[in-house]
Amino acid sequence: MTEPKRLFFAIELPGPVREQIITWRAAHFAPEDGRPLASANLHLTLAFLGEVSPDKQQALSQLAGRIRQPGFTLKLDDAGQWLRSRVVWLGMRQPPRGLLQLANMLRAQAARSGCYQSPQPFHPHITLLRDASHAVAIPPPGFCWSFPVTEFSLYASSFERGRTRYSALQRWTLAE
Ligand code: ATP
Ligand code: MG
Repeated sequence: MTEPKRLFFAIELPGPVREQIITWRAAHFAPEDGRPLASANLHLTLAFLGEVSPDKQQALSQLAGRIRQPGFTLKLDDAGQWLRSRVVWLGMRQPPRGLLQLANMLRAQAARSGCYQSPQPFHPHITLLRDASHAVAIPPPGFCWSFPVTEFSLYASSFERGRTRYSALQRWTLAE
């Protein structure tokens, strides 16, 4: 019997985009502003699933494999802070329809499979800082990072030796 895993579906960011984000973050935020996510962990969550048994993981994976939709472009042109969840984030002023469609589909499949359901509506974002408990100045987004999204992945999150690590378990290509 394998143990349940903490799973989520997400979009991975291309390496060069992650590097640019890290450089921008280092230039605009101080260590006391919050806990920076490691470059390798920068991602956009589509659906958080919580603790999932191997059986349920297989069912979810089959459902995800049935998704047929084209890719889309993400343009990161917004940034902000949510004080309640204590995160500083990057996002999109106008999330593409394809992104919302993909997240809604994965969230609906997760709900049907009896997984954890977030009570929050889907607010697409990339977390930059966690534990950002005091209001920080968010610089105007003087950047425009665009990249094509051609796949999505299922990740396992684990906490090892004081660090959160994500590992990609499976990927699916977006194509009609
Ligand atoms: P840590 O919690 O160890 O600081 P983390 O938040 O990056 O690191 P996880 O808690 O495993 O790691 O979360 C993985 C992804 O799922 C993140 O994008 C996180 O924002 C999202 N997530 C975690 N918990 C929830 C939740 N209850 N509802 C919605 N999304 C969640
Ligand atoms: Mg967390």
